[in-house]
Amino acid sequence: MPPKGNPPVDRKPGPASEGRYSRQTILPSVGPEGQAKWSGAAVLLVGEGVTLQSAAVALASVGVSKLFIVPLGPIDSFSLTSQFPHLQVDVLPEEFEHLPETSASVVLTENRDVRRRFSRWLRHHARPSFFAWPAGSGFALLTARHEGGQCPCLECFEVMNPKAFTKGEASLHRMMGAMAASEALQWISNGKSALEGKVWLTSLETGASFHHDVQPTYKCPARLLEEGAPVTP
Ligand SMILES: [Zn+2]
Repeated sequence: MPPKGNPPVDRKPGPASEGRYSRQTILPSVGPEGQAKWSGAAVLLVGEGVTLQSAAVALASVGVSKLFIVPLGPIDSFSLTSQFPHLQVDVLPEEFEHLPETSASVVLTENRDVRRRFSRWLRHHARPSFFAWPAGSGFALLTARHEGGQCPCLECFEVMNPKAFTKGEASLHRMMGAMAASEALQWISNGKSALEGKVWLTSLETGASFHHDVQPTYKCPARLLEEGAPVTP
């Protein structure tokens, strides 16, 4: 208790970061607990260009303190850390032995082979993962828990819907990156997502947006490989 006649100048003392995130900590869906989880989170980001940059900014701007980035193209990690001084960025090579423990993994690359390789590794290691890619005139977002190192996974969807993967433009990439980051943040604060095991498809041409359940399939290449069965590429 402060001495009489000497009231504290600031009635709400605390680290500067408390004020910085006050707009989100007052949201019932975030609160101080959610903010603490975001601030303590480390996220793996795999991708390139605008998509990667947009996801990194979305995560850093709510206070995520550590990003492990596997860039599949040039990346300016310096501008990220100068924009967000609290942020630590580790740029990692593609080799899996270097992948650290993280709160969530966000895979945004348009490179099909790289996307599959990461999906298989993340599935095998039971890591909660978020994939986003251009689909039709819009984009798709898959949320996979990979519980017990099992399907459903990205390849369960891909093998049944091979045409649901296209290429997109920068504005779409920016939105995709932000949406995937937003789903990862929800997961970090709640440990779950209404989109778990689903692909969320949004068409910018028609405005249609729907959730599509992804069922585990015996045709999944990741599962077949693990079982030692032959897989046709
Ligand atoms: Zn699968």
